[in-house]
Amino acid sequence: MNNIKNRIDSDLIKKAEILLEESKQIAIIPHSGPDGDAIGSSLALYQYLKKKGKAPKIISPSAYPVFLNWLPQNSEVMIYTSGKKAAEDYLKSSDLVFIVDHNSFKRSGDLEKVLQNLPAKKIMIDHHPEPEQIVDLMFSDTAMCATCELMYEFIEALGDENLIDTHIAECLYTGIVTDTGGLSYNSSNPRTYQIVGDLLARGIDKSKIHSNVYDNFSTDRMKLLGHCLDQGLEVLSEYQTAIITLTKEDLLKFNYKDGDTEGFVNYPLSIQGMLVSVIFIEKEDMVKISFRSKGNVPINAVASAHFNGGGHMNAAGGRTTDNLKAAIDKFKAVLPTFYKSINV
Ligand code: 5GP
Ligand code: MN
Repeated sequence: MNNIKNRIDSDLIKKAEILLEESKQIAIIPHSGPDGDAIGSSLALYQYLKKKGKAPKIISPSAYPVFLNWLPQNSEVMIYTSGKKAAEDYLKSSDLVFIVDHNSFKRSGDLEKVLQNLPAKKIMIDHHPEPEQIVDLMFSDTAMCATCELMYEFIEALGDENLIDTHIAECLYTGIVTDTGGLSYNSSNPRTYQIVGDLLARGIDKSKIHSNVYDNFSTDRMKLLGHCLDQGLEVLSEYQTAIITLTKEDLLKFNYKDGDTEGFVNYPLSIQGMLVSVIFIEKEDMVKISFRSKGNVPINAVASAHFNGGGHMNAAGGRTTDNLKAAIDKFKAVLPTFYKSINV
């Protein structure tokens, strides 16, 4: 089989090369509440830039789950909420900022205002729909299953694939598997498998990575999952939709830590016939909502039209300041019309 070519625009990569050459101080920003793809792509870029002789820093808008702490160079990540002054000082004197795995400053969390007012040049590397024009150079491609896939293409297009060592490969692989449900979603493509093949050839241990990411539940987290699926689950068979509800009290009872509910929303899709699954999580100042769907069901339309969010067709997020019951009632009110519109 022929190799499939790199998909990065050659004029754009030349501009990135010049910006990189000119830049001394570089910051890398994943999205708020970062996941495996956001942290994996940030750490891969960080290590790559170090190999190029740069001294970059990753500033994460917020903390992230412990099941990502094993990633190479994890200890180098600055968390904005744990040291705002140092992060702001660094950003103000940076000449280049990478916006990674998101495409709107709204998704940069507490860093939104800081990033909006920075003099630094900005490069976006992202795979979400509807990117905002907030950067000088935009590497944005929704055909990529993960930002880590695009990051591989970015490094390769710069002619530096020989700099991808085992540690960088581990970071990129982690983002690809976590964003594709272990390569099960149709978002992955033939080129993804070539890239994965290349990453494997660089010596990564995929069994160890799988175990680090997925076999890392605390007992509390496992019991919280049990609670969700037992007490928190409502199945609306008529609309092929399942809802999970988690209250503040539930989170307290099971000693909730950042990232503990990651992936819970996917479980109800294993029920025969389900097309949509939604989890409502009551936080201190808002209700966080995650949406998942199967096939051609554009659940991101519900997230953007009714819940101040958005995302991909099959995986989207949103939030509301309504109370938990009002949020769920609102979803149930829009569900019949949405279900009709998808024509199943
Ligand atoms: P999650 O449920 O994991 O928070 O989000 C699922 C997907 O939707 C992720 O790819 C995430 O980037 C995206 N997403 C979550 N919240 C938002 C949002 O407010 N706006 C947009 N455009 N995408 C979001
Ligand atoms: Mn991603």
